[in-house]
Amino acid sequence: MLKDLVRPNILALEPYSCARNEFTGEARVYVDANENPYNSDVNRYPDPLQIAVKRKIAALKGVRETQIFLGNGSDEAIDLPFRIFCRPGIDNVVAPAPTYGMYQVCADINDIEYRSVPMKPEFQLDLDGMKARIDDNTKLVFLCSPNNPSGNALRWEDIQWFLDNFRGITIVDEAYIDFSSQPSLLRELERYPRMMVLQTFSKAWGQAAIRLGMAFAGEEIIRLMNNVKYPYNVNILTQKQALRVLDNIADKDKAVKEILQQRDMLRDRLNTLECVDRIYPSDANFLLVKVYDADNTYKYLLERGIIVRNRNRVTLCKGCLRITVGTPSENEEIISALKEYKIG
Ligand SMILES: *Cc1c(COP(=O)(O)O)cnc(C)c1O
Repeated sequence: MLKDLVRPNILALEPYSCARNEFTGEARVYVDANENPYNSDVNRYPDPLQIAVKRKIAALKGVRETQIFLGNGSDEAIDLPFRIFCRPGIDNVVAPAPTYGMYQVCADINDIEYRSVPMKPEFQLDLDGMKARIDDNTKLVFLCSPNNPSGNALRWEDIQWFLDNFRGITIVDEAYIDFSSQPSLLRELERYPRMMVLQTFSKAWGQAAIRLGMAFAGEEIIRLMNNVKYPYNVNILTQKQALRVLDNIADKDKAVKEILQQRDMLRDRLNTLECVDRIYPSDANFLLVKVYDADNTYKYLLERGIIVRNRNRVTLCKGCLRITVGTPSENEEIISALKEYKIG
């Protein structure tokens, strides 16, 4: 039962009921929310459940609107499961390492034990290691696929083990799914009511600044997310911009196609350079590049005005820089800078 996983205070919660929840039809005079009546395009509170945006996402992804939560970035969708399912000081979550840093930050903020299990050398899950860390108080497992910072997609059979056997919530972060050769797990949404799939407008859609993240899950989980979120968590400017980009899917597809071509070009060119040891396979819009001298290479690029992400001190990433695929001219700059780099 999903109910058995939920914190008692959240199960008992009487959620805030805002004016826009209590009346949803069309009226001539709105004097129910203490807003300024003079129209400025932003004087009214936005739709708390973002129905128009969800309608378009539902059609695009082949899910129901009631299976979608929209949040202030994926960050909000990562934080809410902690607040809904995890009792501070009692419960724990399990995740592989290396992976996206926000899972641990949210665990720390919520006073939830974060159990980190090193991946195998090629960045696949250590299933036995993860199983050994799961106990009766493990409420969430985070699986990022394609994974950040390694770039690879996780094996479907490994993810499926958690979906079939883990009694808590399996959260699969698909922030980079548009760049992946692997299909999205959204196809399994009906089959696994305790799975949550995260996607975002920040990467392939090119909308990082509007802060819009998507969570897909069973309707019971989505209802809980809606009860716990801030009432107006997605502002009207973001909702309008989301509607605009959802009407221009071809633009997103074109950008993804170009980025994928550039990723392959960047990989091939970097592979010929003396300072590069190896490049890990990528299903994302970045490359994890092992160099012979990560800290100095990072500093050298910085002096040339090029900022990459130094992952030298991250589990299993010793010697690694994470490089996002840029525009063709940015990628040329990276290549020509590294071509001139002399190992110290
Ligand atoms: C970039 C990224 C996100 C996106 O976060 P937003 O809050 O939606 O911008 C989510 N998950 C991972 C693994 C990421 O790398």
